[in-house]
Amino acid sequence: MPSCPRCEASVGEEARYCAQCGAPQTEDAAEELDEYVQRQAEQVAGSSGGGGDTSESDSFGDMADLSDREQLWRRGCYVVGYGTVVVALTLVPAAGAFPLVLAGIAILPPIRRLTAEPLGSPLKREVMAGLYAIFALIGVALLVLV
Ligand SMILES: [Zn+2]
Repeated sequence: MPSCPRCEASVGEEARYCAQCGAPQTEDAAEELDEYVQRQAEQVAGSSGGGGDTSESDSFGDMADLSDREQLWRRGCYVVGYGTVVVALTLVPAAGAFPLVLAGIAILPPIRRLTAEPLGSPLKREVMAGLYAIFALIGVALLVLV
């Protein structure tokens, strides 16, 4: 009868785990345990972002439990934000370029998260989009008028 390499209790020929200490007895069992632990760790990491509180899904947890819509929104924000900054930088001598750069930066998701620090919870997406619109309008107006 084989014995457990960890606690030396005798284990059955076919046993995948030691009945005494739970140590895996085969390669497969060890891998399975690894995967299980990893999944658990990911779940813990995933829920700790939101303080484990699902009712807070729109506050700090938005990194962790991203819904499809939230993910699309974030991707869109990055594209629009960086796109605006790049375009604005090509216009730089013009006065309107600076509000445009601000607009592009304001809509980037990390900026929204930064607003959580002083305010307790991040500004709403609509607010960031509004900020973007205001800066972008100022920029475009300056580009057209100046
Ligand atoms: Zn054991």
